[in-house]
This record gives sequence, C-alpha cells and structure tokens, in this order.
Amino acid sequence: MRRFSPQMICLYVTGAEWTYTGEHGVDQWAKDFPSYCSGQSQSPIDLEASQVTYDSDLQPFTFSNFDNTNGITWTLLNNGHAAQVSIGSGTMQVSGGSLGGTYQVAQFHFHWGSDSTKGSEHTVNGLAYPMELHIVCFNTKYGNLGDSLANPDALAVLGFFFE
Ligand SMILES: [Zn+2]
Repeated sequence: MRRFSPQMICLYVTGAEWTYTGEHGVDQWAKDFPSYCSGQSQSPIDLEASQVTYDSDLQPFTFSNFDNTNGITWTLLNNGHAAQVSIGSGTMQVSGGSLGGTYQVAQFHFHWGSDSTKGSEHTVNGLAYPMELHIVCFNTKYGNLGDSLANPDALAVLGFFFE
C-alpha cells in the first residue's frame, strides 16, 4: 500500500523540454532529469482513494502572512508550461502538516487544460481536474529557492484542484 504525504515534491525543471505525454512524457522524466525526477515522491501522483490511509499524526498547516502583500514584487511569466507568478520578496510562510520546518512561498503557478476534462497535473482515482494551483515554497533553513534544490527537504508544494 502506498502512503502519501501532503508534502508533495513537484517537478521543478525550468528551461528544459518536458511534457506529460510523448517523447518527453512522464515515463521519460526519470531518464531525462535523473537528479530531479528519479525519487520516491515524484509528480504526477494519481491519488487512489483505495490506496490512501488516514494518518492521525498529521497536524494542520499553519499559514503566515498570506494576507499581507505589502511590499511584495510580483512577476508574471509564461514559462512555456504554466502561468507562473514569482514573488520577489515576501514573508508568506507555511509550516505544520508533516513538513518538519518552515517553508517560504517563492512562486505559484497554474496547470490547466484545453477543456474541463483535463489540466491538473495530479489526478484523483485517475480523473483530472480542469486546473491545479501549485504554491511552491522553499525550506527557510536554506535561505533561498536556488540554494535549496539539491536537498530532499528543499521544497514543499501545496496543490489545489479547481472545479
Ligand atoms: Zn506545478
């Protein structure tokens, strides 16, 4: 039985050729990007209800400063895979769950499809949602997103499905 954590590690490869299907599709990610995509917490995940168990040890997430946008520089970018908003300097942080530390929001981006039957990166019981928001956070013990990436506890990505 597979056990999933709310701390999902998102594929974080930019400026490279990758897709969800075809020559550079999901089945090739571990080969194409071995340092990012050959781990045990790899996106995309199909959350199969019959394979999920409740973990009573999990604590609620704590969100700090998500309602304080003063002084934040926002940069909207079409990165070729998603619409991404980078946050130049901010104090939005999340902890709790099974994170084991405090994570600072670096960017958020959306995955969506050409119609409402597809678009989310992850699926539930094999079914996709029309859109998925990913809030990408880095572990504050590493100082910034770039310095954190080589570490297995570098990123926490909060994923939200849209209906
Ligand atoms: Zn994403």
